[in-house]
Amino acid sequence: MRYIIPVSIQDNVSAILSDLPPGVSLVAAVKSRTPEEIQEAVAAGVAIAGENFVQEAEAHRKGVGGGISWHFIGHLQKNKVKKAVNLFDMIQTVDSVELAAEIDRRAAVAGRVMPVLIEVNSGDEAAKSGVLPGECEALVRTIAQFKRLKVMGLMTMGPAGSDAEGLRPCFRETKRLFERIRALDIPSVEMKYLSMGMSDSYRVAVEEGANMVRIGTAIFGERQKA
Ligand SMILES: *Cc1c(COP(=O)(O)O)cnc(C)c1O
Repeated sequence: MRYIIPVSIQDNVSAILSDLPPGVSLVAAVKSRTPEEIQEAVAAGVAIAGENFVQEAEAHRKGVGGGISWHFIGHLQKNKVKKAVNLFDMIQTVDSVELAAEIDRRAAVAGRVMPVLIEVNSGDEAAKSGVLPGECEALVRTIAQFKRLKVMGLMTMGPAGSDAEGLRPCFRETKRLFERIRALDIPSVEMKYLSMGMSDSYRVAVEEGANMVRIGTAIFGERQKA
């Protein structure tokens, strides 16, 4: 049998919000959660929901209603960009010129400008999403030319399976990259957000300079394994 451990989403959100230093934004990672759970988090002070799947986001938006921003934090397929541009306030996972070009095209049709973060593959792992750190500046410079995207910072996951201390060097490296690109003052680029850290690693990420953390499990409890 399965034991349901009661979690109070409200208590969890309150504890995390009071744990975060001023100036650090909380993104609630809402994959596989119900609209009711998300509403409870919003009532407790969550202002941004992070979605991994476009289709789930459509259902969530209908079920949750207004009052929060929606960020895309999953892997975005090109054939989902059209919907994504209408659903999200920010796309945190841009990692190629091709994806940026498609967002630019669809955002032009929608008559809007899409704020984006560049996803950095800070663990230098093969076959993972994110641009390699050494290629990040060139990608930012290219995307800065697109009229319908606004680069607003960097996002990173770090290698899967690492514990918080194992992620620290990746967070530190990404912060260094963030500062270096910010110092370049590239026209129309506003290096404002550094999105890194999850339930098990957000404290270390904040120590290393994150000002946006993405937290699911520590708010909502363990996800049901499929
Ligand atoms: C699920 C997810 C998170 C949150 O992970 P938890 O360990 O549940 O806090 C953060 N970022 C991304 C991109 C995710 O997919």
